[in-house]
Amino acid sequence: MRGLRKRYGRATAVDGVSFQVRAGEIIGLLGPNGAGKTTTISMILGVLEPTEGALSAPPPERMNFAAAHAPLPGNLTVAENLRVFSLIFGVPRPEARVRELMRRFDLERFASVKAGLLSSGEQTRLGLAKALLNEPRLLLLDEPTASLDPATARDIRAEIMAYAARGEAGVLWTSHNMSEMEEVCGRVLFLSRGRVLLEGDPRALPAERGCANLEELFVAVAREPLTP
Ligand code: ATP
Repeated sequence: MRGLRKRYGRATAVDGVSFQVRAGEIIGLLGPNGAGKTTTISMILGVLEPTEGALSAPPPERMNFAAAHAPLPGNLTVAENLRVFSLIFGVPRPEARVRELMRRFDLERFASVKAGLLSSGEQTRLGLAKALLNEPRLLLLDEPTASLDPATARDIRAEIMAYAARGEAGVLWTSHNMSEMEEVCGRVLFLSRGRVLLEGDPRALPAERGCANLEELFVAVAREPLTP
């Protein structure tokens, strides 16, 4: 994407953001509340029209996303949700794919439960299973582990890292959990007030800036006044 901007009246939510996600890569999109992370993801998905700028390459043939703020239809059961989405995506051999994802995301015992009745962590797992149904080439994850317990979060991180490690898909991942970003991302982009302030390897960046870790760097950068 190149020079992506989104304005709401006089307010600018995303202010000229450019970056590229390559296959096999997990990129972390960091930044304080309101920095423009979700707006950026929504423009990549085509849910929001940019005010300026565009995706400089055609979007990959298959994209998908998971976000806690976009739950799946609550009146459909877990199995129904996955079946419906696999039909929408034109997944080959949908029954086998749904079974495999229910197993991988520990959803089998909820197959006949309405999605709206699941706990928030269970709904998150369902959202991630749905996001992998069509084996997307670009996977957009908006705080995918925010409501998960530590053990489940670890399993989910491993699933997504293994998916990226196959080398066929790129992942764009937003999170407020800095140790998670250090663990999973090859590169992080630090957004503040709609602009990319810092970019680099999350394991090297803190030391380059005289900080002990990514969390310390986040706090330091978030407190700095924005310089053009
Ligand atoms: P968080 O970490 O809190 O999820 P975020 O980085 O995802 O934040 P966005 O949701 O992208 O932030 O919001 C960026 C800015 O755009 C915020 O200041 C928000 O208030 C503003 N914004 C988002 N949608 C609209 C809208 N429809 N009209 C006006 N302002 C909006």
